[in-house]
Amino acid sequence: MKEDYYEILGVGKNASATEIKKAYRKKALEYHPDKNPGDAKAEEMFKKAAEAYEVLSDPNKKSRYDQFGHAAFEGGGGFGGGGMNMEDIFSQFGDIFGGAFGGGGFGGFGGFGGGQRRVKGSNLRIRVNLTLDEVANGVEKKVKVRRKIQADGVTYKTCSTCNGQGQVTKVTNTILGRMQTAATCSTCSGSGQILDKRPSDADAQGLRVAEETVSIKIPAGVESGMQLKVPGKGNEAPGNGIAGDLLVAIETKDHSTLKREGDNLHYDLYISISEAVLGTSKEIDAVGGKVRIKLEPGIQSGKILRLRGKGITSLNGYGSGDLLVHVNVWTPKELNKEQREFFERMNGDGNFEPKPEKSDKSFFEKVKDMFS
Ligand SMILES: [Zn+2]
Repeated sequence: MKEDYYEILGVGKNASATEIKKAYRKKALEYHPDKNPGDAKAEEMFKKAAEAYEVLSDPNKKSRYDQFGHAAFEGGGGFGGGGMNMEDIFSQFGDIFGGAFGGGGFGGFGGFGGGQRRVKGSNLRIRVNLTLDEVANGVEKKVKVRRKIQADGVTYKTCSTCNGQGQVTKVTNTILGRMQTAATCSTCSGSGQILDKRPSDADAQGLRVAEETVSIKIPAGVESGMQLKVPGKGNEAPGNGIAGDLLVAIETKDHSTLKREGDNLHYDLYISISEAVLGTSKEIDAVGGKVRIKLEPGIQSGKILRLRGKGITSLNGYGSGDLLVHVNVWTPKELNKEQREFFERMNGDGNFEPKPEKSDKSFFEKVKDMFS
């Protein structure tokens, strides 16, 4: 499994653009090839950090990554597998180091790693049920969420047990000598802060439940079973903690006539024998409404008409699927006397003999084509 970009840079999921940039500068300096000549491991870390920064510094890519993780960039372009090359990385540096790499003076990025832990609020989970139309083009859903937020007027103060460190150090005497262990402070549960002023509507952590409308941008092409993440819209944490995430489980409703297969849609069209012989035009279901298609005289049963781009917009942002219309010629089971006579007369007619051409592919050849 690929490593998490936030973990690579050593920042939290809610890190600001500035924090991400600082963290990357720190990593880039640490693993820079000039400082680690011939060290393959350092070079790998250097590339990983660059890749992480490439994504997390771009608001677009970052939001896709936050929602889908590495899956957001699979299956199309990006930098799958081999990662970025050194040239790409160094071209990024103009932006990061102001064209003066190695010039020093970057200070101020201490504090990562050690020090105070920030408590995170719990995640919330909801489901959304989408129609095929919504899946096809993406949709913005507004949902009501009941989440814990810090009550109005609540204040927190530094925990005196741990002096705001969130951890307490215990020294114990063992047979091996004095051992020093760090444990989460039980007074503040590791947040480094405790409740100071508690408003009447707040719970023991200074939180209250509020109903909030959250807007969720659902990209086109999602499938049932996927989960989106709206960062920071879960329960808030007390003190200076960070809010949890809102996890959105995607469910999709079946369409009455359109069947989805990946980004393609399939539609079964039934026409009569006379329509097949004479040609016709038909209105069929498509995403976003009906479309009219023309069938040439002499169309064969089993023919598949491909309406390019009328399928589902691809989740990875590269194009759309097609709408495949399967033509089925409906044969009547019962005929009246006149109809029977007509078909009996045609029975010996050479024009009614099947003469399949190369272009009239068999069903199996078509299936093969569709999967190749
Ligand atoms: Zn404490």
